[in-house]
Amino acid sequence: MLKVELRNISKSYTPGKAVLYPLDLTVNPGELFFLLGPSGCGKSTLLRLLAGFISPDTGSILFDGKDITSTAPEKRDAGLVFQNYALWPHMTVFDNVAFGLDTRKIKGEEKKQKVRAALEMVDMQNLGDRRPSSLSGGQQQRVALARAIAFRPKLLLLDEPLSNLDAKLRDSMRNEIRRICKEAGLTAIYVTHDRKEALSMGDRIAVIYDGRIEETGAPWEIYRRPSTRFSAEFMGNANFIPVKIIDVEPDGCLVETSFARMRCALPAFPVAKGNTCTAMVRPESFNISTAANIPNSFKAVIKTMTFQGETGGWLLAADGCDLSVLELCPPKRETGGELFLSVTPEHIVLLEDK
Ligand code: ADP
Ligand code: MG
Repeated sequence: MLKVELRNISKSYTPGKAVLYPLDLTVNPGELFFLLGPSGCGKSTLLRLLAGFISPDTGSILFDGKDITSTAPEKRDAGLVFQNYALWPHMTVFDNVAFGLDTRKIKGEEKKQKVRAALEMVDMQNLGDRRPSSLSGGQQQRVALARAIAFRPKLLLLDEPLSNLDAKLRDSMRNEIRRICKEAGLTAIYVTHDRKEALSMGDRIAVIYDGRIEETGAPWEIYRRPSTRFSAEFMGNANFIPVKIIDVEPDGCLVETSFARMRCALPAFPVAKGNTCTAMVRPESFNISTAANIPNSFKAVIKTMTFQGETGGWLLAADGCDLSVLELCPPKRETGGELFLSVTPEHIVLLEDK
């Protein structure tokens, strides 16, 4: 399994207009790694650098410790899958999958066997004689995937591979792609702007914003304990609450908001008594109760509720601050009614004010 390292990589297409600022990144062997960020942040540029279609302005790319920065794309041993499947319309499914083998001079029985194995991997073994135009979008994307893995690359590069599929198919293909990467022992780098794709499929995620890596971490970490306001907002709904640090202890700190004093976990950056910063709390991290006798609880008044079926989105007014709260199986409550919110210390994430 392949280890991928980027060292001090930067890129601009027009002089003086950086698309990627100098960045470092390590993708571990066998990892399904996500490059996640909004449109235009430089994700595809990063993937094209890895594929070897373009060269970086500075820095080096290492595969298993070997510098391949100037190695030609076809010598990089990477399979590619793009949003628009890029299948040859005049060729059968079998020949499309065989394409990468032909260019690598793999012939005869070995070629047939490798194509069959790849088609089996994507569950398309019976459709080898069909033309791409007679297949659904999902099936075409499976063929593209089979073509990318048929020559048994060590690295798979995927650029928004599910963007052209409808929502339901996207969900099932997520599991499929992950299964295939793991079964084939691939190191895979997957570009998307869809946070749910990254959260549900990824081993680790790099959040990219405006040509820079905001942070890197496991899905759980990035969602629950983001380290910047951008990634907190990009990964999901969040409340941002101004706080003042009242006390710092080895295992946590005490903060003051306009509506309560609360304990929270220590942040990764240094804090001292008297500092101000921002607390991030996910809407689903609040508990709603009718009693105040638990730690970190405070009173709030119901403003509105948006019923969403399995969940309800409440907008509540705490003293000096509106909060959005997500509740599973929401009961009926009256607007203007009072209740108590609480939140455990580890669900309050302090973010440095910039
Ligand atoms: P993403 O994949 O995250 O949407 P891209 O890497 O495609 O972003 O693009 C990043 C930035 O670089 C964008 O501002 C885009 O307009 C610009 N860009 C991409 N490709 C080229 C190119 N070939 N020439 C000039 N600018 C480009
Ligand atoms: Mg792109």
